[in-house]
Amino acid sequence: MAADLHIHSTASDGCSHPVQLVDLANSRGLSALAITDHDTTQGVLPAVARGQEIGLLVLPGVEISCEDDAGREMHILGYGIDPNHQGLADRLTALRDSRRRRLEQIVQRLRSVNIHLSLDRIQAIAGDGSVGRPHVADAMVERGYVNNRVQAFQGYLAKGRPGYVPREKTSPSAAIALIASAAGVAIWAHPECSGLADRLPSLVHSGLAGIEVWHPDHSEQQVCQLLQLARLQQLLVTGGSDFHCTGSGSPLGSYVTPDWAVQNLLQVLSDRGSQS
Ligand code: AMP
Ligand code: FE
Ligand code: FE
Ligand code: ZN
Repeated sequence: MAADLHIHSTASDGCSHPVQLVDLANSRGLSALAITDHDTTQGVLPAVARGQEIGLLVLPGVEISCEDDAGREMHILGYGIDPNHQGLADRLTALRDSRRRRLEQIVQRLRSVNIHLSLDRIQAIAGDGSVGRPHVADAMVERGYVNNRVQAFQGYLAKGRPGYVPREKTSPSAAIALIASAAGVAIWAHPECSGLADRLPSLVHSGLAGIEVWHPDHSEQQVCQLLQLARLQQLLVTGGSDFHCTGSGSPLGSYVTPDWAVQNLLQVLSDRGSQS
């Protein structure tokens, strides 16, 4: 038994509805899952409700996009958060609003390289969730400019390409504090090994509780290094597929958190709950 604790839904840039994801996780024999959408918890409640119906543990989650002082992009996962927490909801709403403003700039930039997309169409593709570059990519595929999301990123949307516009920056310490304020546990998503040991102490000081170890971006060697580091520093460890869409990227359940690590995470969450 194992849990996929890194999954995106239609509430951000995933292709499956939260309810479908719970059913899929169940059919793959997972013991638990977490919906971890970019800058939104809108997918959490429908998933939790479905989990209760079919008897599968669904951990509330979120993945907050951050940038550190050195300008490096990093993502912070929050688990066990209260999705109705007002402070968290307000901050995530502000981040999604700024994503919408950024979208206008992306569309403008793409126009200068003769890519003509409708802002309304991209918004429609994203629905009322968290809009991002993958939705721009989907609109480009739809209009025949590229064949898939990967091509859209490589040619136009990745950093350094003509349609790139950075997101509003949140510091990792602010994201960690926000997650803690909503009763959650903060985990550094898919950290790079290089320089990690130097960067960890200040984040742990800010309240970071763990690191993501099992992830499609990590080689076997990195997994070993990360596990060792986590053990030394007594950090929680998690993992997941970072599933977005069927047919691209890693399938749901292909990277997981082993049960012992899920139990450690649940224990920390339950200890925090009994303290408050
Ligand atoms: P955004 O949050 O709008 O900056 O978009 C980032 C998201 O784009 C990531 O979470 C991935 O889902 C997706 N992404 C990033 N790089 C690539 C890539 N090279 N190919 C396909 N999708 C990507
Ligand atoms: Fe994504
Ligand atoms: Fe991420
Ligand atoms: Zn992710």
